[in-house]
Amino acid sequence: MRISLGFKLGIIYLILITLAMLALGTFVLNYFEETFIAEKRSSLLVHGNVIANRSAPFLRDEVDYQYLGFLARDTSEQIGNRVILLNAGKEVIADSAVGMVGDKMDNPQVNLALTGRTAGDAHYLEQFGWVYYLAVPIAAGQELLGVAFIAADINEIYEQLATIRERLLMFGFSTGIVIFAISLLLSKIITIPINRLQQGVQKMAAGEYGFQVPSSGKDELSQLAHAFNIMSKKIEKEDEIRKQFVANASHELKSPLAGMKALIESVVDTEISEEEVKEILLDMNGEIDRLNKLVTDLLALSKIENNKNILDLEEVAMGELVTEVIKRVEPLAKKKKIAIKVKGDPNIYWQLDGEMMLRAIYNVLDNAVKYSPPESEIKFNFYQKEHQLYFEVADRGMGIPEHEQDKIFDRFYRIDKARSRSTGGSGLGLSLVKEIVALHEGEIEIVSKQSQGTTFILKI
Ligand code: ADP
Repeated sequence: MRISLGFKLGIIYLILITLAMLALGTFVLNYFEETFIAEKRSSLLVHGNVIANRSAPFLRDEVDYQYLGFLARDTSEQIGNRVILLNAGKEVIADSAVGMVGDKMDNPQVNLALTGRTAGDAHYLEQFGWVYYLAVPIAAGQELLGVAFIAADINEIYEQLATIRERLLMFGFSTGIVIFAISLLLSKIITIPINRLQQGVQKMAAGEYGFQVPSSGKDELSQLAHAFNIMSKKIEKEDEIRKQFVANASHELKSPLAGMKALIESVVDTEISEEEVKEILLDMNGEIDRLNKLVTDLLALSKIENNKNILDLEEVAMGELVTEVIKRVEPLAKKKKIAIKVKGDPNIYWQLDGEMMLRAIYNVLDNAVKYSPPESEIKFNFYQKEHQLYFEVADRGMGIPEHEQDKIFDRFYRIDKARSRSTGGSGLGLSLVKEIVALHEGEIEIVSKQSQGTTFILKI
C-alpha cells in the first residue's frame, strides 16, 4: 500500500500534537490540583487554628467534655466539615459526628501534629471518595495538649479537575483533527511539485528529453525543479548532438565510398586505357586516404570522449615536436609552394602528451596550408611566456568570419563545405584540437581578418 507523503506528515504532526497536549494537560491538571488543595488547606487552617485556640483552656487542667463537644459540633456546623478533638494521648474527646469519642486515632497527621507541627493531606477513601485531613496541634505555651482534627470532603475539587481534564481532552482532540486536516492541505504544497518532478523524470525515462516542469518560486523544491529543467535541456541538447553526429558521420563515410564505387564502375563499364586506369586508381587512393583520415579522427575523438584521463604526459623537447610536425605538413606545403617560417627555441621542454600535441599542432598547421593561397607564407612561432607555452600559426589565407569562429570547433563543421571536402578535410580536425588543448588545460585564441589571414594561438 502506498502511503502518501501528506498522510505521513499528518500522522507525524498528530503524534507531536498529542505529545504536546499530554505534557500541557498534565502540567495544567497538576497546577490546578495543587492550587485547589492549597486553597482548601489554608481555609481549613484558619478554622483549625481557631478551634485549637478555643479548646486549649478546656483541655489543660480538667477536660470539659461537654464544652468541647459543643465546640466541635458548632464549628462543624459553621464550616460544614467533621471536627474531632483529641487529647495528647490520641484519644478522641469530642467528635462533631456521632461515634468516635473514647476511640484512639493513630494516623500520620495526628502523629505529626503531636510533634507540634500542623499536618494536612488529601486521601482517597473507598466509601467517601476524596477527603482532606488537617491536624492542628492544641498547645498552651510549650505544652502540647492535644490535636484539632478536621476531615473535609474535597470530592468537589476532583469533580472540577475531572471537568477540566475532559475539556482539555476535547480541546486536544479537536485541535489534533484540525491540525491533521491543515497538515494534509499544507503537504499538498510540497507534494504537488514533487509529483510534477516525478512526472518529469518519467517523461525523461521514456525518452522525452527536454521536458520542463514548472519551477517558479525560490524554495528548495523550486530550485530542484529548476536544476531538473537545466539537466533536461542539457540531455536534450546532448541527444541532438549525438543524433547529428551519427548522421554526419554516416554521411561523411558514405561519400568516399560512393566516390570509390563510381570509380570502380567506370573501370568495369567502359573500355579504358592503362593510363586512365592508373589515374582512376590514384583517385581511389585519394578517397581511401580521406576515409582513413576520417576513421582515424573519429577513433581519436571517441578515445578522448570515453576516457578523459588518457593523457600520457612526458617531458617533450619542442625541437623534436616541431620537426616532426613540419615533416608531416611539408609535402602539401611544397605542392602549394608555401613557405613555412618556423621560429622558436628548440630547447624548451614541456610536460605534454607528445603524440596528442603533435596531432593538434599538425591539424592547425595543416589547415593553414590547406586554406592558404599557393606561394604564400605561413609563420609558425612557439615560445614560453610566464608559465605558458604558446604555439602560434599565422597564415595569409581567406580568414575566418567572426561569427564562424566558434562554430569551426564543432564536429563536421566546415565554412565552405565543397572546398574543404576537396582539400580532404574531415571536418573533425579542429574539434580534436579543441579536445586535446582542453585535456592539457589550455585554451585557443583566434585572430582573423577576412582575406588577410588567420592566426591560431594555442596556449598550454
Ligand atoms: P577540415 O577538415 O574541414 O579542415 P577542421 O575542423 O580542421 O575541418 O576545420 C573546420 C573548418 O574551419 C574548415 O572546414 C574551414 O572552413 C575552417 N578553417 C580551419 N582553419 C582555417 C584557416 N586557417 N583558415 C580559414 N579557415 C579555416
